[in-house]
Amino acid sequence: MKLFLTFVIFFSLIQISTIFAADFSYSGTTGPAFWGNFNETCLKGKNQSPIDIPYNEFIKFSKPDNVEFHDAHDVVIENKGHTIEISKNLDAKLKIKDNEYKLLQFHFHTPSEHRVNGRYYDVEAHFVFTDTKDNLSVIGVFYDVSDRRNRFFDPIIYNIPDENVKKTIEFIKLSSVIEDINWMNSTYNYFGSLTTPPCSEGVIWWVSYPVQPIGKNQYLKLRDAMGFNSRYTQVRNGE
Ligand SMILES: [Zn+2]
Repeated sequence: MKLFLTFVIFFSLIQISTIFAADFSYSGTTGPAFWGNFNETCLKGKNQSPIDIPYNEFIKFSKPDNVEFHDAHDVVIENKGHTIEISKNLDAKLKIKDNEYKLLQFHFHTPSEHRVNGRYYDVEAHFVFTDTKDNLSVIGVFYDVSDRRNRFFDPIIYNIPDENVKKTIEFIKLSSVIEDINWMNSTYNYFGSLTTPPCSEGVIWWVSYPVQPIGKNQYLKLRDAMGFNSRYTQVRNGE
């Protein structure tokens, strides 16, 4: 009996350590409903992202100061399994209350994480900026499948690596992103969080509207590489 109990305890411990050692995912016991196991902010936070945004709350010309997106050379693309992320040598910045934020990385979600009047879009790109004190600000851009391909995605789609592999992309036309969204012509600005564990709060969000086009094949390649990677919408602050 004693030996049996030892076995039960031993195997339970293995199981628990497996759960906590595992990376987060978008389904099952490591999915969004269980992200509190990775960090309790995911469960108990009061300013969590993403959220459903009422269409009439997008505001014209509400944007950070000095937004600059320059084309980039020799950037790194990584297939992290749960997303495709582009980092290194990115030349983009913005200013919030005299604090300068630089573009650290950008990545994608299929379908979109934020919603507008309950509707989601095929893709959402997150451009993640950070200042010298590690404060974060993210620009979110929606894309919907269209018969028009989006040239910005070409070098990304052609270079998607295998899972957990990195590659270098020689040139990426980052300037076209900010041109397409008209230098953030219309945005929804709020204090939210990272949309993946550890779900840290204090993130300054700028969700941009309207929706941009992405070609059908571009979308399919991106979606096939990442799968479903969208957290369900969270309760808006104070509601
Ligand atoms: Zn994201």
